[in-house]
Amino acid sequence: MEQTFDTVLDGHERARRGARAAEAARRLAGEDIAAVALTWVDVSGITRTKTVPIGRLEHAAIWGVGMSPVFDVFLLDDSIVSGRHVGGPVGDLRLHPDLDRLVPLAALPGWAHAPADRYAQDGAAHPLDARALLRRETGRLAAGGWTARTAFEIEWAVSATPDEFTPACHGPAYGMARVSELAGYLRALLVALDRTGVSVEQLHPEYAAGQYEVSVAAEDPVGAADTAVLVRETIRAVTLEHGMHASFSPKVVAGSVGNGAHVHLSLWREDTGDGPANAMAGGPGPYGMTDAGQAFAAGILDRLPALLAIGAPSAASYLRLVPSHWAGAYACWGLENREAALRFVTGAEGERDHAANLEIKCFDGAANPYLALAALLAAGRSGLDAGLALPDPVEVDPAGLPDGERAARGVRPLPVSLAEAVAVFEDDAVLRDALGEAVTDTVAAVRRGEVALFDGATPEEIAATTRWRH
Ligand code: GLU
Ligand code: MG
Repeated sequence: MEQTFDTVLDGHERARRGARAAEAARRLAGEDIAAVALTWVDVSGITRTKTVPIGRLEHAAIWGVGMSPVFDVFLLDDSIVSGRHVGGPVGDLRLHPDLDRLVPLAALPGWAHAPADRYAQDGAAHPLDARALLRRETGRLAAGGWTARTAFEIEWAVSATPDEFTPACHGPAYGMARVSELAGYLRALLVALDRTGVSVEQLHPEYAAGQYEVSVAAEDPVGAADTAVLVRETIRAVTLEHGMHASFSPKVVAGSVGNGAHVHLSLWREDTGDGPANAMAGGPGPYGMTDAGQAFAAGILDRLPALLAIGAPSAASYLRLVPSHWAGAYACWGLENREAALRFVTGAEGERDHAANLEIKCFDGAANPYLALAALLAAGRSGLDAGLALPDPVEVDPAGLPDGERAARGVRPLPVSLAEAVAVFEDDAVLRDALGEAVTDTVAAVRRGEVALFDGATPEEIAATTRWRH
């Protein structure tokens, strides 16, 4: 039987967590922290929460906080579909804070945050818990001697108004004017992220009206997904504090450039004495990839159409994922090619051994970051197991190639709708095997629910319904 990589909450583990939580609560209370938000991300990519006063943190660490399993079949508008494995008002799960990731939220004074793991009443991991799933997938990679380093780029657009989108700044794309206009806000954001322990690498004004982006240091996969949640909630809080509103939607305004949540991913061979080695550099493959790095990349490239049901999971995702918008609408790869769904980034000469990585551009911020990384790792691992090789890279905007040449080069358009993506996803045996029947069927049920929700809706209606949800 396969190793589960799950922690079972037996008496010993509960006692250990209780003692740690009591100590953390004392320390946080001394810093005027009054409440802890325990968060998990649902299948629709929405961060949901139960909170406890600091005095209950110890109890929550030992026994968890009650929470219905029905959230696994919530849609982005809070309506509920029924799945084969979940649905209905009956049953209870326990949310347990991960004490290793408990941090004061600098952007919400008096509050701390802990990502939560969902357990059944008997102390076993909930089969639909995305965080546990990612931990398991990381474990499977580790069993083969590999680790992954990952990070999400977060794009968001700032509005002066809460309903309609009114850009809160007017400077041009990448313009310094846009920094000057909102300098106090952006500074407060960087300070809050730093105080929350997030390692920011850069912040810049993006292309679309009112749009910015922050990139953070790579971490282990679960850490990177936790950080994506933390960064987003910090941005949201600082934006509100400054009297503005942040949209992370894949398509804030129909017809404009959307928000991506590109994933950066590198594969590392475990330390065999001279430190861990990046499989994306120093090898004989294309642009210096090792054979393993190439196989991992090819595994992801092969499955991109199916992966979209996880990484571009909303109707609005397909308004964003259009050619020539730097979103990566074609399943192909290329060095530094911003129109390739899989972009290879080597970094500057001299830093490649640690900097070279894959960027998955077609993913957006409606994705559950835990599910997104679990599915990417599973796809990469299948490529590793099969020893796949990459096709030739594409060095141009694939949209500009004549149809015949595009097909001859093996460049496929990605699914153009959520319905198309979910159909490919359901047929993908590798993802089904890695995610499990319950997760696969539940993801499909939620996606089909969203397809039905937006049946007949115009792009404007989809953008308006989605704008403030994630
Ligand atoms: N906003 C673009 C997207 O939808 C990405 C721009 C960039 O290359 O960073 O993914
Ligand atoms: Mg960007």
